[in-house]
Amino acid sequence: MTKTLILKHGREKALQGKHPWIYSNAVVRVNGNPQPGETVLVRTEEGKALGWAAYSPLSQIRARMWNWDVDEVVDEAFLRRRLQRAIELRVRLGLNGAGQGARLVHAESDGLPGLIVDRYADVLVMQILSVGVEVWREQLTDWLMELTGAHSLYERSDVEVRRLEGLQERKGLLRGENVRRVVLEEHGLRYGVDVEGGQKTGFYLDQRENRRRVGQLAAGRRVLNCFCYTGGFSLAALAGGAEQVLSVDSSAEALRLAQENLALNNGLDASRATWLEGDVFTVLRQLRDEGQQFDLVILDPPKFAPTAVQAARAARGYKDINWLGFRLLRPGGLLATFSCSGGISPEFFQKIVADAAADANVAARVVAYLHADADHPVALSFPEGEYLKGLICAI
Ligand code: SAH
Repeated sequence: MTKTLILKHGREKALQGKHPWIYSNAVVRVNGNPQPGETVLVRTEEGKALGWAAYSPLSQIRARMWNWDVDEVVDEAFLRRRLQRAIELRVRLGLNGAGQGARLVHAESDGLPGLIVDRYADVLVMQILSVGVEVWREQLTDWLMELTGAHSLYERSDVEVRRLEGLQERKGLLRGENVRRVVLEEHGLRYGVDVEGGQKTGFYLDQRENRRRVGQLAAGRRVLNCFCYTGGFSLAALAGGAEQVLSVDSSAEALRLAQENLALNNGLDASRATWLEGDVFTVLRQLRDEGQQFDLVILDPPKFAPTAVQAARAARGYKDINWLGFRLLRPGGLLATFSCSGGISPEFFQKIVADAAADANVAARVVAYLHADADHPVALSFPEGEYLKGLICAI
């Protein structure tokens, strides 16, 4: 017998707009005792079949849609096709070159809710965030190796959100050789990635194109790169001809890697780079008190608001660093500022930055609106997929 999930009367609207999530409060009944991760047929209360979803009994997101075609069975062939389709998109975008980095699977937006796959040269890193994907873990691992020809595959499912799905954190090498450190190329620069211990899956691929754009604006400028991690924007700025780059991060390990990354690039002048371990909120105040000034300030903080619940507190954090960022700019300077908080909309972010500029008493103009690079697609039916937004402001 087919296991089914029945929606409350009138709660099919979002689903018909192809939004992939079914919240627990939209469910009236579940028949057939499906196990966590099992595929269920979704029906309206009137009995109309809407598609297939992965059941997640513990999560507020009680089910995630696999498809809206009732006749298309969710089996191994189906999931393998979805993976293939995701990888082919990156190939079509010209973002899957040998030796480079690319996000091959971007979860909901690639029709694979809860699955992230990043490729760093010939090493894959997989992150599983939903029980619906968890039950296919073995097969997915095999297909990924087969479809990409990768040498190794790591799992980096060491993230707390898994608990919401009743899953333990987990990480480690699943296939191939232990490489730990892999070097990739990005716009002519080489970056080492720590796939085992680095943040997220090791590197912030979403900022690839933005690093290039901001780097191009750095020529002859004095640059301050806040939240520099392993030196992404710092190296891009040096390559762009920056006169000086001061980079700040609270992680000593990230700064160590950043300096290693700089050393990987012979063409860059290490004497122009300074690395500072510290809390950006404090460091910005110190720099202000010392009367320091910069021509280009970059702010790429971690997510202050993963969901809308934390938005108000997060907004205060964003406003604070942006206000200080504006204050540290010389006349004619540029601020490249980002938010990767899913809980902060692009409009709200712009409002926060506008308030910060007003408080800093500068007339700022937006000269570029930035987003995650193209290998992080956003399904039109899933606006939540658009988490990264950035502004370049000129004063
Ligand atoms: N721009 C980077 C990614 C930044 S990730 C890139 O292109 O690769 C955010 C970074 O902020 C992390 O390295 C983290 O260690 C650092 N961080 C988090 N809170 C911080 C704080 N209060 N002060 C300084 N660094 C912080």
